[in-house]
Amino acid sequence: MKGKIAEVFDSVQGEGLYLGEKQIFVRFYGCNLGCRFCDTKLSSFMEYEPEELFKELKLYRDKYHSISFTGGEPLMQKDFLKEVLKLTRKNNSRNYLETNGTLYEELKDIIEYLDFVAMDLKLPSSTGLSDFWDEHRLFLKIASQREVFLKTVICKDTTEEDIMQGLKLIRETCQRAVLILQPDSNEDRAQLHAKIESFKELCRKERVIACAVEQIHKAIGVK
Ligand code: SF4
Repeated sequence: MKGKIAEVFDSVQGEGLYLGEKQIFVRFYGCNLGCRFCDTKLSSFMEYEPEELFKELKLYRDKYHSISFTGGEPLMQKDFLKEVLKLTRKNNSRNYLETNGTLYEELKDIIEYLDFVAMDLKLPSSTGLSDFWDEHRLFLKIASQREVFLKTVICKDTTEEDIMQGLKLIRETCQRAVLILQPDSNEDRAQLHAKIESFKELCRKERVIACAVEQIHKAIGVK
């Protein structure tokens, strides 16, 4: 069984709750969505057998927080991912999944091999796509078996209505999960400031733990 992998590298986590932690990144090729703000449009990939990828991961000798399986959307290649997760688990690595939170059937099949789930909350007013409330609900119920937190991109078009719907979803499925409000790095940070502050206030009122964290990769010039 072969997997399509765009790149393997080590760096520091550039967003979310584990910002700054040293990780090995495995970027999966392909995604089932097409968000307006996407900055990971991948044009090429290498093919690996699970054992081949595992062998390459073992070449990274430093101490790492975890291995980040990212994309694209890793769950699009669930069977391949599962085999790799089994191998890294056996080798005492911690598995960290970055996902768009829509492929809940696939998640169900691999959740036992994960340690961390970093899930995107896809708000229709931000992505320019239809909503994924039902998919997110089912996904979060499964993800909450592990340490899970959510990230949502805030742009000038993001609506209060969508934020409220997202907070309701978090309260109903995993009340203790932290929500990261992430300003769209393609937009003017200063212009988004007031919007993010008002959304933080909504989170406080709705009793969802939230904070604003920017993507640092572009800011500090690392991958
Ligand atoms: S889910 Fe992520 S990788 Fe896929 S289109 Fe949206 S931003 Fe890009």
